[in-house]
Amino acid sequence: MTYAEARTPDPKKFIPGATGEWELIVGLEVHAQISSKAKLFSGASAEFGGAPNDHVSLVDAAMPGMLPVINRFCVEQAVKTGLGLKAKINKRSVFDRKNYFYPDLPQGYQISQFKDPIVGAGKVILDMPDETVEVGIERLHMEQDAGKSIHDLVPGKSVIDLNRSGVALMEIVSLPDVRSSEEAREYVTKLRTILRYLGTCDGNMEQGSLRADVNVSVRRPGEPFGTRCEIKNVNSIRFIGQSIEYEARRQIDILEDGGSIDQETRLFDPKSGQTRSMRSKEEAHDYRYFPDPDLLPLEFDQVLVDEIAASLPELPDEKKARLISDFGLSPYDASVLITDPADAAFFEDVAKGRDGKLAANWVINELSGRLNKDGHGIADSPISAGQLGAVIDLIEEKVISGKIAKDLFEIVWAEGGNPREIVEARGMKQVTDTGAIEAVVDEIIAANGDKAEAVKEKPNMIGWFVGQVMKATQGKANPQAVNDILKAKLGLDG
Ligand code: MN
Repeated sequence: MTYAEARTPDPKKFIPGATGEWELIVGLEVHAQISSKAKLFSGASAEFGGAPNDHVSLVDAAMPGMLPVINRFCVEQAVKTGLGLKAKINKRSVFDRKNYFYPDLPQGYQISQFKDPIVGAGKVILDMPDETVEVGIERLHMEQDAGKSIHDLVPGKSVIDLNRSGVALMEIVSLPDVRSSEEAREYVTKLRTILRYLGTCDGNMEQGSLRADVNVSVRRPGEPFGTRCEIKNVNSIRFIGQSIEYEARRQIDILEDGGSIDQETRLFDPKSGQTRSMRSKEEAHDYRYFPDPDLLPLEFDQVLVDEIAASLPELPDEKKARLISDFGLSPYDASVLITDPADAAFFEDVAKGRDGKLAANWVINELSGRLNKDGHGIADSPISAGQLGAVIDLIEEKVISGKIAKDLFEIVWAEGGNPREIVEARGMKQVTDTGAIEAVVDEIIAANGDKAEAVKEKPNMIGWFVGQVMKATQGKANPQAVNDILKAKLGLDG
């Protein structure tokens, strides 16, 4: 029994229909381009772009007599990715020919792995808002990418660009464990984060380095899986969510009208938000897979696996657990910070020796918000981890209030400089001297006798008094002290 079969149906995720509720079942096949200078079986450049047919060797163009030679680096990246997915590494795997005709496939077959993939069962953990979901990985295999037909370059003609022909891909196949479009989006996001941590794929969906084939079916809760449709080559996380929602609704409507689902391959059109039929789905046997006689079975020993395992960076799940235990972060804050390793590193620099939650708050809310607004990345943040840390020190030492800290943050952002010196030079220190605050409070109460009476009936009105004191002290009064003194003087204690 797979994890998917064991997973208890969750009514919260059911999709309502006219005749009752439906459960959504999704499995994903993600094609991830291996970050490699050269292609999988040739020395031609695997770089994105370039003039059409600039990165094409005789092997990639399938000239007669040309033989593929396996790229060792790509094999190592596939093993590394397998380890990152906590998966079984198969030290013996086989390259097969997947036979089909397409103008952009000059070989007449794609070299892929069928029965014996390089990586077996693994898993990806999803942190959903109120549960943890485990999505099983069935396998990861290596294969070549195809070329591209271009229909709008030469009027009246279709032309072929083979730059991508032979580029190394990892196809990562999940079990049908996903039960909502949110989970599907989170799965691809998490997978991309893992690939980026490992450095085995840049995860750039706009350039096609990461594309998902999404298998969607629906069933009545508790019944066997329904017939699935495969939505091909979805190239953004948002589109993955949209295409699943459209496709589920389409299938439910057909089934509720008494129809049946044809197993087929469909395309998602981002403009209309709809999927449409592309071709009836082929079965594996249609491809006449057989071991490629030009390539020996791929074999390596445990030493290689151990070496690669020793070189693995700290992965997202481990980093998250460490941020929670070392800095007392909430699981949510930790998962926000680990999405980009650069964010996590910046946070750790800020948080070292300081209150972790306060540091996380500043990095996630103030800094990230400000960076987004100005179109900066964390790498070119105008405010350094040291400067942000100094702002937080001033808050922790109660030299400035949280509100003044935001003003200080803006000043350091725009002008740079040492936060402590800026506070000193511009008189931004918070007033904690209770005597000084009391004097201001007395003045305000004396000038607003009516309100001082009314607040006894409506304690919420204390906010107005706090505002007045803050105004009079230009925001520098310690908010806690102001509250305490006001309550005492207005007789609101207890
Ligand atoms: Mn494939």
